[in-house]
Amino acid sequence: MATLELRNVNKTYGSGLPDTLKDIELKIDSGEFLILVGPSGCGKSTLMNCIAGLEQISGGAILVDDADISGMSPKDRDIAMVFQSYALYPTMSVRDNIAFGLKIRKLPAAAIDEEVARVSRLLQIEHLLARKPGQLSGGQQRVAMGRALARRPRIYLFDEPLSNLDAKLRVEMRTEIKLMHQRLKTTTVYVTHDQIEAMTLGDKVAVMKDGVIQQFGTPQQIYNDPANLFVASFIGSPPMNFIPLRLQRREGRLLALLDSGQARCELPLGISEAGLEERDVILGIRPEQISLAPTTANGLPTIRAEVRITEPTGPDLLVFVTLNQTKVCCRLSPDMPAQVGDSLNLQFDPARVLLFDAVSGERLGTVGSSRNATGNVAQFKGR
Ligand code: ADP
Ligand code: MG
Repeated sequence: MATLELRNVNKTYGSGLPDTLKDIELKIDSGEFLILVGPSGCGKSTLMNCIAGLEQISGGAILVDDADISGMSPKDRDIAMVFQSYALYPTMSVRDNIAFGLKIRKLPAAAIDEEVARVSRLLQIEHLLARKPGQLSGGQQRVAMGRALARRPRIYLFDEPLSNLDAKLRVEMRTEIKLMHQRLKTTTVYVTHDQIEAMTLGDKVAVMKDGVIQQFGTPQQIYNDPANLFVASFIGSPPMNFIPLRLQRREGRLLALLDSGQARCELPLGISEAGLEERDVILGIRPEQISLAPTTANGLPTIRAEVRITEPTGPDLLVFVTLNQTKVCCRLSPDMPAQVGDSLNLQFDPARVLLFDAVSGERLGTVGSSRNATGNVAQFKGR
């Protein structure tokens, strides 16, 4: 177990090429599980390779337990990595694949047997030890993980380990990885481009785009209090609704005016910041923050809107309406008998509405962030 800290880490693959990693600052405690999430090509694998020592950083420092490891060779770092493309040796049995790294390190045979038994028990692949990787189908990734786990390193790095698996196995493995981490409590960095994995697996989440950490915080902070439009749009399924508009000012207070075509509604934003009404802004509201208005008014702003499309997902009914000429998704109870063409009275909780600058994507005002004023936004570098 170890702490991991990245200080101002930069990486470029050559002069003339754009920087792949820009001023990365991250710190996780011993035993924590960090998720690194971002779209394809944003630099996730590069960062993992830098931590593992497979790539040299161009600037900054990587510290494990407060000691700089940036100059160390990969084998001296005591960090194990599971890659996306699991490179198993096809002619070796599962047992030999798992034991491979231990044999190289010349562990005694009895210790190797003991370690293989421990790891295969952990991953529930004891019955597969005699097989070749080709005879495993979905079990291959478990073996690849087994090979990494057969060491007890200070840190595990997982680079999209589940992305080659089918959906069902991926969900199963996700739970197993979480259980495994609860048992082993080894500091882990786990890369994914899947925002569900990001929300479900990690103690901390770092959202990355174009080599820049957009936000670093707990899954709840990232979800409830996104630093910018990119983070808000990347995390959440179905995604947050974004309604472009101009705010109005009345008696010093700012309002968002919503129009469904059949009705209008004023959303008081509880902020009075000067000049905001002169900017193009984007109102962000998650589908589950729009609900059906109760028959007796409860004081929340309400609007009548026509149902355009319905999508029953099982646990929810997604209902799409149009507000300010923008398609807006509402996540309602599946017991709701909403049909296309029906008009529904919808209501919003203005305290949950977020505001972004339409040009920079930056979060504006204090709307929505009052619940969470502890400054979780470790770094913000625009969109
Ligand atoms: P991700 O894992 O998030 O999909 P990568 O870290 O693989 O992203 O790649 C980030 C960027 O760095 C990409 O633009 C990619 O083309 C570039 N890159 C990755 N490896 C190399 C390399 N060895 N040489 C030059 N550019 C590279
Ligand atoms: Mg990658």
